[in-house]
Amino acid sequence: MKICLDAGHYGKYNRSPVNPAYYESDMAWKLQGYLKSALESYGFTVIVTRTSQDKDLALEARGKMSKGCVLFLSLHSNACEDAAVNYPLACCCVSGKADVLGQKLAETVQTVMNIRQNGKIWKRQGTSGDYYGVLRGATSVDTPGILLEHSFHTNAAAANWLLQDANLKKMAQAEADTIAAYYHVKENASTGPAASENKTAPKGSYLVKITCDALNIRKGPGTGYAVVGCIRDRGVYTIIEEKDGWGRLKSGAGWICLNYTAK
Ligand SMILES: [Zn+2]
Repeated sequence: MKICLDAGHYGKYNRSPVNPAYYESDMAWKLQGYLKSALESYGFTVIVTRTSQDKDLALEARGKMSKGCVLFLSLHSNACEDAAVNYPLACCCVSGKADVLGQKLAETVQTVMNIRQNGKIWKRQGTSGDYYGVLRGATSVDTPGILLEHSFHTNAAAANWLLQDANLKKMAQAEADTIAAYYHVKENASTGPAASENKTAPKGSYLVKITCDALNIRKGPGTGYAVVGCIRDRGVYTIIEEKDGWGRLKSGAGWICLNYTAK
């Protein structure tokens, strides 16, 4: 399965008014690199719309590069007048083909950034199909397209969070987990657990299969910690640390109770 990633903007573009160190283009470029690696470790083939940060390509042309891909994903952060606004948004192609994954990705961003305002999707129709040029291009080659806004860089908390490389790595892993779960790709499908685990996960980590329909992810190892997510796919996940019968997820999403898993 092939996925096309698009780092939203090139050069130095869309500086944050609340944190001058932040440029949307820089964030998108870094995240694209981390996400490419994370998806490749799941066995996806990943292509990118530009191989150098300072090269641009027309919007529709970028979308059209996704010909033959299962997904076109454009990476952004949003902006508005109100500095208090802070929520993830997935702009999905008007065909509706990306709505389910778009909603999942918006929720993933919300969970990883620990944002209160809910992640959501929307669609915008233009005069000839999709309003957004990149999505119009993707639709023209029959690829479901999502333009994912990693909340608002006009919000100080979001801009500060997105400036940290470690956070972007965590985000990339969580988004790759969500995409892989959506396409039912088991981790390390192409290389086998041992080979890839050694590269990407700390020593002593292992895989578990979820054995119940809905398993809460909590902020810490115990029911006293807040619920930050829920696993509903009975999928296979990597545990990198154990404490009191709880396991920490490699994605950074949180901890799960190991009673509801099989090693
Ligand atoms: Zn943008």
